[in-house]
Amino acid sequence: MRIGVLGAGQLGRMLALAGYPLAKTFVFYDMSGSPSVGLGEVIVDREGKYLDDFLSRVDRVTYEFEHLPVEVAEKLAQEKPVHPCPRALQVCQNREAEKTLFGELGIPTPRWKIADSAGSLRAVAENLGCPVVAKSNTEGYDGKGQAVLRSPEDAEAAWEAIGHPRLMVEKFVEFSREVSIVAVRGEDGQLAFYPISENVHHEGILRYSIAPAPKLEKHTQQDAERYIKELMNELGYVGVLTLELFETANGLVANEMAPRVHNSGHWTIEGAMTSQFENHIRAVSGHPLGSVEPRGLSCMINIIGEHGEVERLLELPYAHVHLYNKGERPGRKLGHVNVLADSYEELVWRVRNCVQFLPGSPEFISSLNRKSKG
Ligand code: AMP
Repeated sequence: MRIGVLGAGQLGRMLALAGYPLAKTFVFYDMSGSPSVGLGEVIVDREGKYLDDFLSRVDRVTYEFEHLPVEVAEKLAQEKPVHPCPRALQVCQNREAEKTLFGELGIPTPRWKIADSAGSLRAVAENLGCPVVAKSNTEGYDGKGQAVLRSPEDAEAAWEAIGHPRLMVEKFVEFSREVSIVAVRGEDGQLAFYPISENVHHEGILRYSIAPAPKLEKHTQQDAERYIKELMNELGYVGVLTLELFETANGLVANEMAPRVHNSGHWTIEGAMTSQFENHIRAVSGHPLGSVEPRGLSCMINIIGEHGEVERLLELPYAHVHLYNKGERPGRKLGHVNVLADSYEELVWRVRNCVQFLPGSPEFISSLNRKSKG
């Protein structure tokens, strides 16, 4: 079976690496002009001229990148199975549509309102009560196109800074930590849920994911499973879906969803019986899903901006190094390291050992060690 992937970055690369043992072949469709996938067949098409060519070479279509025109996915879906469905793309490209769907399905969100002028941003900030987070309603990711308003007086400057005609304005959530759940749904509706991971961000970029998230109440995992199940069933979803959430004193609050394999699920490559990548390939190919049981305790460390001392990392018997074959650039995701351990104490120790070889990595602070920092 030939799988067509829209997008040609590291997620596509890891999908292919997981798909080859199942005898899948891959054709990537790149609209950026700078594919980094480095394997499979790549069609570079900045002007959208070769879509039919792409389609003629594949049996099924999926994506590793959600910022592509919905019309493209819809056009493809008329000819070949496209998983996940174009509606999933449409929902996650528009924060208003996404939060509305969450609300309809009983998934808690921050209180939110839409602003379409500097004046209405000020009024919304007053109505919700500051602090609030204003985000461009479309085209935003990794914290880009966002501003926190500490007072309604900040509205004018925030409106100018974001420079977008329509803003999603959310009440600022006082969370104890950020978490996510990665789940997969098969063509037959079979569901599987990975354990929730705790995600540590620095300057808007994910740096560490710990899974299973430490000190997690049982009902929290159950709540997250219920929410993502509602979403997948509503959308008739096939493939891996990720739901990013805030953990608060009053339970989970949903932030956003990603209709694809996700950076916070990279730990599953060595840390789970079946990786998110293999399960995505299984789902879009119509196969039974693999077990999502963890193999132990995991931490994923992102390699950002510079590679650091890779040779030293490779000497560590517990460090599983994954490199994406990309050039160094500030803020760029170049690879990740998965670390496994039998106890959280050992995990912290191992992660710190790895981090010393990754210059520019923020200190590893999570719920495992935050209090002991004094
Ligand atoms: P997003 O692009 O929506 O994922 O937001 C990027 C980051 O901004 C999140 O990972 C959070 O750290 C932070 N953030 C987003 N929305 C809120 C909110 N309503 N309250 C507090 N922090 C937020």
